[in-house]
Amino acid sequence: MRIHHLNCGTLCPHSARLINGRGGWLEPARVVCHCLLIEADDGLVLLDTGFGTADVANPRQLGPVFGLLRPKTEIGETALKQVEALGFAASDVRQIVATHLDPDHSGGLPDFPEAEVHVFGRELDAALHPCLRDRPRYIEPHWAHGPNWVRHDVEGDEWFGFEGVRILPDLGAEVLLVPLIGHTRGHTGIAIRTGDGWLLHCGDAYFNHGELATPPRCPPGLRFFQLLNAADGRQRRANQERLRELVAAHGDELQLLCSHDPHELDQAQAESARAAA
Ligand SMILES: [Zn+2]
Repeated sequence: MRIHHLNCGTLCPHSARLINGRGGWLEPARVVCHCLLIEADDGLVLLDTGFGTADVANPRQLGPVFGLLRPKTEIGETALKQVEALGFAASDVRQIVATHLDPDHSGGLPDFPEAEVHVFGRELDAALHPCLRDRPRYIEPHWAHGPNWVRHDVEGDEWFGFEGVRILPDLGAEVLLVPLIGHTRGHTGIAIRTGDGWLLHCGDAYFNHGELATPPRCPPGLRFFQLLNAADGRQRRANQERLRELVAAHGDELQLLCSHDPHELDQAQAESARAAA
């Protein structure tokens, strides 16, 4: 099983200092969309999809919030183009697993219309039947093509003390949805057993690697954005605290990463390049 770390979208909101914690106050920040492409024996699995080709053609469909976040929307950053650059076809992506369905995580869905899309049931309900407050965050064009949704609900499995939902039993590797509710109503992490331990993709459960430290650190602009954007602030904070406890107790067995931290992405890509060499 080989895992590629892809950036499937770059956002350049104002103030690197407030968002990245370094650089100029007026310099554009760098925020990435860290997705994973897993090469399994019988096809590819894509974990989150970033922005898609239709978002590149029409960034306005992402809505007014993304206007402020200033997405770069480059065709070469779409998961589709990166899958093709690795020598595969869109139809080789058999499964997609989504941490949640915000526009910066679901944009690539229409580019892989044949794939099964695995989502936590509560997130699917939140996105397809949004309450009034959630209506601006979920955008219909990302699922207008009618994805092959595969809904998953909690069934009593456990992972390091968290609830876990085992998915993709035929993959030949253990993969679980790990509910980390808060950022959205059905937000999950995704745990993958790799050769040397576990990788937990935490989606938007945290935004900066400093938030996993004890005591946590986070640039003020990012902290504010998370506060503003949480569907359930109390659960978001509680789950972030549980992630810190997880790292403190089991950090040597686990690698955690999130969607939007450029430092984590750069590190993971550099590590992959070293391993390949
Ligand atoms: Zn996000």
